[in-house]
Amino acid sequence: MTLIDTHSHIYLSEFDVDRLDMMERAHKADLSKILMPAIDSATHEAMLLLEEKDPDCLAMMGLHPCSVKENYKDELKIARDHFDKRTFNAVGEIGLDLYWDKTFIEQQYAAFHEQLEWALHFDIPVSIHSRNATDECIQVVSAHQKGKLKGVFHCFSGNNEQAQQIIDLGLYLGIGGVVTFKNSGLDRVMETISLENIVLETDAPYLAPVPFRGKRNEPSYLKYVVEKLSEIKGVSAGEIAVITTANAEKLFAL
Ligand SMILES: [Zn+2]
Repeated sequence: MTLIDTHSHIYLSEFDVDRLDMMERAHKADLSKILMPAIDSATHEAMLLLEEKDPDCLAMMGLHPCSVKENYKDELKIARDHFDKRTFNAVGEIGLDLYWDKTFIEQQYAAFHEQLEWALHFDIPVSIHSRNATDECIQVVSAHQKGKLKGVFHCFSGNNEQAQQIIDLGLYLGIGGVVTFKNSGLDRVMETISLENIVLETDAPYLAPVPFRGKRNEPSYLKYVVEKLSEIKGVSAGEIAVITTANAEKLFAL
């Protein structure tokens, strides 16, 4: 069995105490690749260093919507400059966050629009953060979907209709710990969604699945997501792994 964690911030300081052990647990849990979405310039170095040390950890590049502040144009330039130095598997994570702070919402939109164009320019996928902003993100993506845009709505937790809109746009749904949460409703939505349309993720160190809900999340916990999906879809864990890994390989050209 081979699994790919398509969204994991394992370069953050939460893992400084046990990063090597955490990676060993990940490999033992059949994780073949871990994709690391960027946040902002404060953590680029840690992310790129980890990628250098472990070739199974692959960096994305982009500006997270929660890091869009007064200086967002400088931050965008720093991220964009990285693309002139090397290639990345994806632009991420980018998008809109209407949960925390709406002060910079206009700037969030501007940064999202610009970075979607980077993805089209470099012909690579996007990893989209859409917290409390699924409809808004769908709208923005629609405007840039010229038939070529590919990517994933990371940590998808919307309804059936939103899931279908994303699939119709040609993007994937990133499914993680939320599917194991009681009353998330995502289990019901997943009953109607084909496995062909999803990729797996942890969003570590956040959103740990049951039975670790509320604790630090890590890639090896992906197995709990696989188990839950296996239960919902009535297929073996092995089949979940085969399909979702193939999806991730295709989407991120791994
Ligand atoms: Zn993230």
